[in-house]
Amino acid sequence: LTPAEIEALQAEDVARLVPRPRPQDHKYTRGVVGVRAGSAEYPGAALLSVAGAACGLVGMVRYVGDDPVADRVRQAHPEVVGAGRVQAWVVGSGGGAHADEALAATLADEVPTVVDADALKHVTSGPRDLVLTPHAGELAAMLGRGRAEIEGDPLGWARHAAEHYGAVVVLKGRHTVTARPDGRVRVTTTGNPWLATAGAGDVLGGLVGALLAAGLEPFDAASVGSWLHGAAATLASAGGPLVATEVARALPAVVRDLPQP
Ligand code: AMP
Ligand code: MG
Repeated sequence: LTPAEIEALQAEDVARLVPRPRPQDHKYTRGVVGVRAGSAEYPGAALLSVAGAACGLVGMVRYVGDDPVADRVRQAHPEVVGAGRVQAWVVGSGGGAHADEALAATLADEVPTVVDADALKHVTSGPRDLVLTPHAGELAAMLGRGRAEIEGDPLGWARHAAEHYGAVVVLKGRHTVTARPDGRVRVTTTGNPWLATAGAGDVLGGLVGALLAAGLEPFDAASVGSWLHGAAATLASAGGPLVATEVARALPAVVRDLPQP
């Protein structure tokens, strides 16, 4: 890859790609995203994935899961509704032991899907539009490699994984790389190391799912989501520490402050 082949989205690109409601829209035409995340061990992952999905870029967010996690999601996010038709899914964040069942149930519905965290272990290449969102440790486990090896060449391994799985791969970390099966790559230039905090990835998964549901194609959804996520972290952190909840909360302001397309 020459430097010219490594794309980096600019604020103007994101402004052009981000979904915006048209006057004739109603909540269903803006897109509906479904989230299957969280477990008894990791209830917070459900809340954070939903928070990323419910940042205002789609018409509706559905959460599918068992009580008491689902009850906590409803308490925290009164806008969120239950099972029904969706245009995209997010699955796996904090999924614990049942991530394989959640993935199978999700893939039965043939819509674009973000696969994160525990569900990544069970993913196989398929015809469907998938966005895989591993960090280096997760990708290492998926490919049977060492974490250090992945971290040594994130561009190369993200491209390898995208080709191997026939999916868009977002390899998260210091230099987040989004790769397509044909080798095209985008690096994320937003964000800062304060983003290395529990739950940050769960917010990203929800956000990318929302962008898929709003109609962005997977490579754009993944790279635009990653750009917005990093920009929200920078805004929320303002040079200091942050927690994942604040990243989700800063997303609407980041979209609002994009340049005019
Ligand atoms: P996860 O490990 O799933 O919670 O995802 C971590 C999130 O934090 C991803 O969006 C990463 O890109 C981001 N992140 C982790 N480490 C760093 C770092 N050193 N600098 C910038 N972003 C980071
Ligand atoms: Mg994670």
